[in-house]
Amino acid sequence: MSGIYIHIPFCKQACHYCDFHFSTSLKNKESLVQSILSEIDYRINYLPNKNIETIYFGGGTPSLLSEKEIFSILEKLYKLYTISREVEITFECNPDDLTDDKLKELKRLEINRLSIGLQSFNEEELIWMHRAHNAKQSESCVKRAQDRGFENITIDLIYGSKFSNLSNWKKTLDKVIDLKVPHISSYNLTIEEKTKLGHDFKLKKEVAIDDEKSSELFLEMIDRLEKNHFIHYEISNFGKEGFFSKHNSNYWKGIHYLGLGPSAHSFDGASRQWNVANNNIYIKHISEKSNDYFEKEILTEKERFNEYVLTSLRTIWGIDLNYLKTNFNSDIVNNFMLQIQEYIKQETVVVKNTTYTLTEKGKLFADKIASDLFA
Ligand code: SF4
Repeated sequence: MSGIYIHIPFCKQACHYCDFHFSTSLKNKESLVQSILSEIDYRINYLPNKNIETIYFGGGTPSLLSEKEIFSILEKLYKLYTISREVEITFECNPDDLTDDKLKELKRLEINRLSIGLQSFNEEELIWMHRAHNAKQSESCVKRAQDRGFENITIDLIYGSKFSNLSNWKKTLDKVIDLKVPHISSYNLTIEEKTKLGHDFKLKKEVAIDDEKSSELFLEMIDRLEKNHFIHYEISNFGKEGFFSKHNSNYWKGIHYLGLGPSAHSFDGASRQWNVANNNIYIKHISEKSNDYFEKEILTEKERFNEYVLTSLRTIWGIDLNYLKTNFNSDIVNNFMLQIQEYIKQETVVVKNTTYTLTEKGKLFADKIASDLFA
């Protein structure tokens, strides 16, 4: 089984914290969709396994596409690949786009998982983030999607801005629990250099909240969500039983995927490929049938190991010693076994049979521990 990711690089406006690839000019939308359709043809031999278990429309803002545009992409994928009967089709959308008509369209297209970029319920914070929706839309969009028959819904939340404190974070979490969505992705706000927030931070117009406060919010989220039957299955992801993201879980487990559209990444087990993060250059190269729209790197054994450690350690499935022994040389494995002892001693990592996972305390230092374990 494999997955397909489609990057839709358009947004109504630039959120001040976001460093994803997108353009706020929609004038090339039509030709970009045509280019994605052509790229589907060009990349037909990329995936060794043509059985597709997951399709993911991400961005940018896929909900800016028309029904016809979404249909054309799906139709082509269905024609060229064997799509599983149980395929998970995730569609990222913003609250302001989720009108009743849009929801009807997405139902007709058989989209079966909505990922809603809700981010916050606080009007002041949404304005500060420069989101295109307001707090009322944050609250009402989920209910409307549920009324239209969408059961598998995930919402994105951001915590750790200057507006966050323990008391309003608890209220946000309670509101989310009341919405009865089965999945939540929640990210600590990071200040990226090439964003408005990064710029203001450099000019000292904005400050970052300290790590201690962020950790407090993170631990509160784990506690509150777990008490409400969410499983913390990846550092930033919580799902109820049967509602984990199949697409992202496969990605963390090293399953192959093809990425289409500007800035999309692909992985075939041995190499990584990434498309140019520029809409015009992407369209131009695709129309000229030139391969210059992507870069490729063959992963070394150490790079494959480091990626495995970084992604696995963040999940409930953890690092599997048998997998390490089958896929990496004994020097790498022995070094790992030596290094991990320190974290077991510190009680940030726990070992059960042949699997190493983070403890509650370890979750606060996931990336640091993973990088210390790199080959
Ligand atoms: S956060 Fe989403 S909606 Fe906002 S600019 Fe980034 S991709 Fe676009």
